[in-house]
Amino acid sequence: NPITIAIDGPSGSGKSSVSKQVARELGLTYLDTGAMYRALTWWCLQQGIDLTDTQEVAEQALTYPLEIGTDPDAPSIHVGGTDVAAAIRETALSEQVSHIATNLAVRATMRDQQRQLIADARHAGAGIVVEGRDITTVIAPDADHRFLLTASEEARLARRARELFDTDDAQAIAATHNQIVRRDAADATVSAFFEPAPGVVGIDTSDLTFEQSVGAVLDAIAQ
Ligand code: C5P
Repeated sequence: NPITIAIDGPSGSGKSSVSKQVARELGLTYLDTGAMYRALTWWCLQQGIDLTDTQEVAEQALTYPLEIGTDPDAPSIHVGGTDVAAAIRETALSEQVSHIATNLAVRATMRDQQRQLIADARHAGAGIVVEGRDITTVIAPDADHRFLLTASEEARLARRARELFDTDDAQAIAATHNQIVRRDAADATVSAFFEPAPGVVGIDTSDLTFEQSVGAVLDAIAQ
């Protein structure tokens, strides 16, 4: 029976890179739900839609032309035929996503779409690793394995600074600080993702390397 692995965590917890690697090592497909929120944000901005117009954004969520690939070796995301993989990672866009992530009608639509993508993978005979903020609690509370990756604010800042600026010197940390702390605060209104829900395995990656974080998840799955 194809397995489902749910991995939640805040930005900088290592969630994305760890989830992708776990999928590779176990031969599973991979779904990045954050990319879906980002892609919808990109689409609404492209259409000139006011992100605070909750009803209009909710309608776009139902109809926007998303295509998302689930191969962990080649994650792909297109909206209306445009490859948005790079555009959805830009800082300016990242700062806008919470407008959409706090829209409850959007979250309900995302939930249905994400559950459908999981069902599609399973029908195709593939297990899947799904990463996000509400996967262990809302999207797939019945997953075979559920994890919450956490990390100290210090560790998360250093990781994000290295991603954004290729260094974690004081200047890069300062530039990253605003972004990550502000986004966490905006996200916290949607879900409390710093405490594992009952039955969810918490892994603090603050002092773990990437390989050790992947190993911790794989060990817990093998038990
Ligand atoms: O994981 P990532 O940083 O790409 O997610 C981008 C944003 O999408 C998050 O800051 C959060 O606002 C939102 N999100 C969410 N629920 C998810 C995944 C992402 O609200 N399952």
